[in-house]
Amino acid sequence: MQAPTSPDCPDCGSRAKRFPPGREGQYHVFCEDCGHDFGRYDRLVANYRHALDELEAHLETSTSASRDA
Ligand SMILES: [Zn+2]
Repeated sequence: MQAPTSPDCPDCGSRAKRFPPGREGQYHVFCEDCGHDFGRYDRLVANYRHALDELEAHLETSTSASRDA
């Protein structure tokens, strides 16, 4: 079963990740504790980027709002 990429391991709940050596953009990320395959590293990064973009947009709104104070 291919689980959706997530910061937490769906199997054991660990946040520790293992990044085995490999060609950039082709290696998978594994759970440090149980070895769960999180999928391709670039997919994981793309997921994080999406979350960061949303957070950044939210912070930009708060920053420009407090600039007048
Ligand atoms: Zn795990």
